Amino acid sequence: MTATVAKILWLAFGLTWFALRLRPRQQSRKTPVSYSGRGWREFILLGLSLSGLGFIPFIYVVAHFPRAADYPFSPLQGCAGIVADVAAMWLFYRSHHDLGSNWSVSLDLRERHTLVTGGVYARVRHPMYTAFWLMGLAQLLLLPNWVVGPAGLIGFGILFFGRVGREEAMMIEAFGDEYRSYMRRTARVVPWIY
Ligand code: SAH
Repeated sequence: MTATVAKILWLAFGLTWFALRLRPRQQSRKTPVSYSGRGWREFILLGLSLSGLGFIPFIYVVAHFPRAADYPFSPLQGCAGIVADVAAMWLFYRSHHDLGSNWSVSLDLRERHTLVTGGVYARVRHPMYTAFWLMGLAQLLLLPNWVVGPAGLIGFGILFFGRVGREEAMMIEAFGDEYRSYMRRTARVVPWIY
């Protein structure tokens, strides 16, 4: 594998992500939102995440900017990046499947919202965020650039830590003890660890 092949693979995984999200995005429009925690804060967090995982690496892949921050590419590192991205796509697909019409791009509750505790939600309560962490890791491994490589982990990391506590508080507000007991038997992102 060369650095160019790794860039093309990063793009292909990005397109796969986009394709996997098309249907959930369409479906979610059919279920009205009953409560929304959106606002400027969420708007900025989403923008930072999209920049780190999307815009910055896209500019790097198509325009090779900023090339001054490149370091030599290692094929082994690239292969590890593919493994991380394959795992991310699988988990992303499964979490959308299990969450169904309860999914939102931001902090929303929908009419007839149900608490999902099965499938990939059985051991971790934020498997879709686990998938995004894995995408950030894949970017770090696939793109040999000191700025662009870590940008995804930083951008998504800000969204994650800025949102996860508020999301859990919203779920406690909506589901009470059912969510509290779900929290006690699950980890946030990595089974049994965090
Ligand atoms: N944090 C989850 C979901 C991300 S989508 C994950 O990483 O997999 C964000 C929306 O999902 C939130 O607005 C919330 O309404 C909903 N949500 C989060 N956890 C849920 C659960 N266990 N069951 C049902 N809906 C959930």
